[in-house]
Amino acid sequence: MREQISVLEALQQIDMELNELETHLKEYPDKISALEDEIRSSKEILENLISQKDEFIKVRSGFENEISQNQENIKKSEEKLFEIKTHKEYQALQKEITETKRLNAELEDKLLVEMEKIENLEAEINQKTEQLEKKESENREKIDEYQLELDEVKVAYEPKKHEKEEKIQALDPEILPIYEKIMKKNGEVLAVAKNEMCTGCYMNIPAQMFNEILTLTRIIQCPNCQKILYCKEESNSEAKTA
Ligand SMILES: [Zn+2]
Repeated sequence: MREQISVLEALQQIDMELNELETHLKEYPDKISALEDEIRSSKEILENLISQKDEFIKVRSGFENEISQNQENIKKSEEKLFEIKTHKEYQALQKEITETKRLNAELEDKLLVEMEKIENLEAEINQKTEQLEKKESENREKIDEYQLELDEVKVAYEPKKHEKEEKIQALDPEILPIYEKIMKKNGEVLAVAKNEMCTGCYMNIPAQMFNEILTLTRIIQCPNCQKILYCKEESNSEAKTA
């Protein structure tokens, strides 16, 4: 039975390692995709700013075209002034020129506002581009690290599963369901019995049961936490000398 306890100890250790590997198998891909999402959303923000800038540039071009068209009209009208014969016509055209000039002044104010918006946006785009480059290279580095670790975990997983199968082969078939039930419930199967106490849950063990654990003629579970109880070799020899 002591041999079976050693098998259980080894099996428990393997299961804990398998658990850890399984956690990593799930955790690393999650971490990698979170880092990729971060890069993606930074890129989206930058792309939005760039398309916003394109819109502002279109508006600016519209104002610029309108202004130069108006300037041309003013020039033509001013040339026409010399050919006009009547005072009334002259006044009407003069009024038109003044009106167009006033309109152009307004448009130039609007143009300035647009140019300032573009300038600010360009500064923001430059800053965000720099940030993105930094974030991207940082994240890529982390992604590579996680990928490497993930590959290692994948390599380790199958042999560990195989190792578990081997241990199960060495285990008394009647003990396996007990082991699996306790493992599922507690994540830990064995508990050392010491000074008539279960060190898994710190409950006292009846004296007769404790003696049985010392001799280990059968599998004994803690009446409280259900873990399989055993004594360490040293307490065993103490018991022998006692
Ligand atoms: Zn217990």
